[in-house]
Amino acid sequence: MVDGNIVYMEEMLEKKEIDVLKDLWRSDNKRLLVCPVCGGSLKVNMHPRTLHGSFRVSYDTFIECENCTFSVEANAFKVFGAVKSFDEKTIDISSWSTLGDREINSFGNGLDEEILREISSSGELTEFLVVNGQVVAIID
Ligand SMILES: [Zn+2]
Repeated sequence: MVDGNIVYMEEMLEKKEIDVLKDLWRSDNKRLLVCPVCGGSLKVNMHPRTLHGSFRVSYDTFIECENCTFSVEANAFKVFGAVKSFDEKTIDISSWSTLGDREINSFGNGLDEEILREISSSGELTEFLVVNGQVVAIID
């Protein structure tokens, strides 16, 4: 699953960290994010990075709690599209580039198999959260 364009961080994120990233992308940055550990408010910093050979932009994201030591550091973006195919390690998502062309991107597979089967068989367009090169959640 090496893409060369994305910095893969070895560390897998914990569920609560993924949930915070999900909230961030769900809310268009407008809603106040709350720390899953202490309930304090979270400070968010995002630095856009254009993926090489693509118009897609990913964000180096730094999230820090103002009260405790909770923090998240990850590269994240969302993809709107449909599951084209998948196996244990990889998910191919068919979506559109910013120019309107169809494109298929491969990401690491970090989704629950049951959810994946469901959305794959429905063929429905879905928003996927990609963190450190891996699809980790559906943004609902
Ligand atoms: Zn906190």
